[in-house]
Amino acid sequence: MSSETFERPAWKVLAVPGPDRAFVVASGASFEDRDPTTQEVVAEVRASTPEDVDLAVERADQAFWHARWRNDGAIRARVLYGFAQRLRDNRDALAELLTREQGKTIGEARSEIVGSAEMVEYYAGLARSIEGRALALGDDAHGVVIREPLGVVAVITPWNWPLTLLMRSLAPALAAGNTCVVKPASLTPAITVEALAHLAAVSELPDGVVTCVLGPGGVVGDALVGHPKVHMIAFTGESGTGINVMRRAAADLRKVALELGGKSPNLVFADANLDKALDGAMNAIFTTTGQICTAGSRLLVEASIYDEFVGRLLQRTAALRLGDPLDPRTTLAPLVSAAQQRVVGEYVEIGRREGTLLTDDRVLDGPVTSVGCFAAPTIIADLPLASRAVQEEIFGPVLTVHPFGDEEEAVAIAENTEFGLAAGLWTADLNRAWRVGRALRSGTVWINTYHHFYAEAEVGGFRKSGLGRQQGLAGLYEFTETKHLNFDSKETLW
Ligand code: NAD
Repeated sequence: MSSETFERPAWKVLAVPGPDRAFVVASGASFEDRDPTTQEVVAEVRASTPEDVDLAVERADQAFWHARWRNDGAIRARVLYGFAQRLRDNRDALAELLTREQGKTIGEARSEIVGSAEMVEYYAGLARSIEGRALALGDDAHGVVIREPLGVVAVITPWNWPLTLLMRSLAPALAAGNTCVVKPASLTPAITVEALAHLAAVSELPDGVVTCVLGPGGVVGDALVGHPKVHMIAFTGESGTGINVMRRAAADLRKVALELGGKSPNLVFADANLDKALDGAMNAIFTTTGQICTAGSRLLVEASIYDEFVGRLLQRTAALRLGDPLDPRTTLAPLVSAAQQRVVGEYVEIGRREGTLLTDDRVLDGPVTSVGCFAAPTIIADLPLASRAVQEEIFGPVLTVHPFGDEEEAVAIAENTEFGLAAGLWTADLNRAWRVGRALRSGTVWINTYHHFYAEAEVGGFRKSGLGRQQGLAGLYEFTETKHLNFDSKETLW
C-alpha cells in the first residue's frame, strides 16, 4: 500500500483567536497559517500589536498583585491538574491540529499531547511543596528563607515541539505563583491557543494569570522582552535569537532562562549492542524530521565497525516512508515550512561539495511529497570537521558520519562544537560509559538510549545551548527568587 491511498479528513479553517478566547490579545493584521503537507490554510490568525502586548503584560501584572494566586499553592495545583486532564481528554483533536499546523507525524503529535499533560501534572504536584528552610543564627537571631515567584514571566516558544516546550516553562512558572504572557512561534499559533483554551476553561483560574499574544518574534516578541513589567523571560529557540533576547533583557537586568540550539554527537563504540544502537541512531536524527534541538546530527562510529554500521543505517534510511503525517504509516514527515526546506537544501549542497553524499537523491515527486515541504533523508560522510554542515544546526533530516579510532579521539570530535545540549553513547562497558559520559559537556548524556525525557529530570545546555535548567526541581526554582526573612531580638544593633 502506498501513502497516496490515504484519504485526509476534511478541515474547517479555524479563526484564531476565535470566540471564547478572551485570554488572547490580538487586534492587529491577519495572517494565514498553512499546513506544510498540503499548503491548505489551517487557520486565519490575527497578530498582536505592541499596544496589545502592553495590555497583556498589564493584565498579568494586575493578576500577580491582586490574585490569591501567588499565595495559595492548593488553587494552583487544582488548576494545573484540571488543565492536564483536559489536555488528556482532548488528545486526539489537539493532535490532529498539531499535525496539520506543524507537520509532524500523528503518532508523535499524540505523544506530545500526553507528554505535555504529564509535565503539567508533575508541576501541579510540586505547586504545594515550594519549601524554604529555617536557620538558627545565634541565641537571639534566626532566619527563614522562602521562595517567592518573580512576577510576570514571558514564555516565548519555538514551533518544533510547541506544546511540550510551552508546558515545561509555563507549568513551573504557574506552579511557583507567577503570572505569564505566552508568545508562540508564528508557525504554531493555533495549537498553542487551542491548548491554552483548556487552561482558561478551568474555573478556578483567576483572570489575567495567563494571557497570549501572537505574531512575529521581531515585533511582538521584542515588545514583550523589552517590557519593563516583565520580570523574567523563559525563551526557547535558536541560539542567535536567545543571545539577542539576553542582550535586550540585560538593559534593565531582567532574568532570562534560555533553551537554545544544539549539534549533538551520538557515539557508537564497537562493543555496543549494534541493533539497539541502529534504532537509536535513526531515532536520534529522524525524530521530528530532524527538527529537534537534541537531534543526534553527528554520528561518530568506531572505525572497526564503521563500514558495517553505516551500511546498515543506509538500508534503514532507504526504508523510511515519506508521506502524509496524518497517515499512521508515515515514518518521515515534511519539514515545517518552505523556508526550512530551503535551509536544509543549502546544507545538503554543502555536504555534496565538501564531503560524500551516501544517500541516493530521492526524487520527491509523489502527489504528497511534491506538494508538501519534504526533504529527503540524507547521510553525509568525509566532511572536514570545520565544515558548516558539521558545525551548524541544520534542523532537518541530515546526518553527518565520522569514524574514530579510540575513546580519546571520539571525545575530541564530539567536543569540537560550540553547542552542548545533548549527546548519546552506546557501549557495553560501564566504566567507559562513565568516563565518556563525564567527558562530554552536555546537559543530557543518553547511555544506550536516545531522546528519552522525563519531567523530573533537568535539561539544558552548556556553552551556546543555553542558560539555566528546565524540568525537574531546578526547573521550578528557575521561576522563584529566594528571600531571607531575618529575625533578631538583641536589644542593640551596635
Ligand atoms: P527562533 O529563535 O526563530 O524563534 C523562537 C521564538 O522566538 C519564536 O516564538 C519567535 O517568534 C521568537 N522570536 C524571534 N525573534 C525574537 C526577538 N527578537 N525577540 C523575542 N522573540 C523572538 O527559533 P525557531 O525557529 O522557532 O525554533 C528552532 C530553534 O529552537 C532551533 O535552534 C532549536 O534548536 C531551538 N530549540 C531549542 C530547544 C531546547 O530545549 N534547547 C528546544 C526546541 C527548539
